[in-house]
Amino acid sequence: AKNAGRNDYRFFENSMQENLIQKLKMERSLRTALSNEEFLLYFQPIVQLATGRVAGFEALLRWHNPHRGLIFPDKFIPLVEESGLIVPIGKWVIQAACAFARRLADMTVDQPIYVAVNVSVKQLACDDFVQVVKAALQAAVLPANRLEIEITETILMNSDCLASNIAKLKELKAIGVRIALDDFGTGYSSLTYLKQLPIDVVKIDKGFVDDLATSGNNVPLIGSIIALAHNLGLEVVAEGVETKEQCELLQIWRCDSIQGYLISRPVPEAEALRLVNKDNLA
Ligand code: C2E
Ligand code: CA
Ligand code: CA
Ligand code: CA
Repeated sequence: AKNAGRNDYRFFENSMQENLIQKLKMERSLRTALSNEEFLLYFQPIVQLATGRVAGFEALLRWHNPHRGLIFPDKFIPLVEESGLIVPIGKWVIQAACAFARRLADMTVDQPIYVAVNVSVKQLACDDFVQVVKAALQAAVLPANRLEIEITETILMNSDCLASNIAKLKELKAIGVRIALDDFGTGYSSLTYLKQLPIDVVKIDKGFVDDLATSGNNVPLIGSIIALAHNLGLEVVAEGVETKEQCELLQIWRCDSIQGYLISRPVPEAEALRLVNKDNLA
């Protein structure tokens, strides 16, 4: 038993070592991924319930590694955050999203469509963050209201420099950039904080959408959240909408827009542009 225990320990040690080596290898390839142009953005439409039209797109990062193929963010974002690589990569995301928003604007004259980017709190904490955003808007000749910045609720509230982070978001909001609170409801931060944050939009987490169907005759939690957000003058987007039933219930609860597989999965740029064209004909 003693031996077996020791073997277990060694096995554990080896696999830890292996994990570490994997991690180092991955970090090394991530360091060159940006200059090798291995990152790309997929875009997922956000549809306004009242009109059925595409109101915006969320830009979602993908890593196309020549050896491993297409890699999803849950596999590399944590490492990218930990290593600080999120700062240059996040800057590229903002620039690429603005460039896509420019192409959208050229295509859809009558219908302003925004593009939302996920911003990590490490990026937001950089001294030049506001400047990076303003420069990207200028380079793309893009009106500020075509860009939305998504910040995760819990991460923002727990950040070291909360006051200066909020000041930066305020500055961007003042020039017209839309500010969204992402994954809303998953944290423990109280709803009363909402009033103090410079936000325009709350994105309600998929978990609340999933609970909709089981709420029966009760007012689902999401119904109360939507009402409260509206009372604060905020727009509401529901995430992860997969069924028609969820969509219909969200309409009853006066949700503004929905995003999810029911409408479309995140798609490459060309396909996203096709979605908008189809929408224009409808
Ligand atoms: P998120 O910001 O909450 O993005 C929504 C995620 O839900 C996306 O996963 C999207 O593909 C997925 N999704 C959308 N609709 C549905 C649905 O109907 N059902 C289900 N099951 N899932 C749905 P994705 O693209 O894998 O991204 C995962 C997370 O990675 C994002 O969560 C975001 O936190 C992070 N991320 C993605 N791109 C970036 C980026 O450019 N920068 C940073 N900092 N984080 C990013
Ligand atoms: Ca998001
Ligand atoms: Ca989200
Ligand atoms: Ca999420």
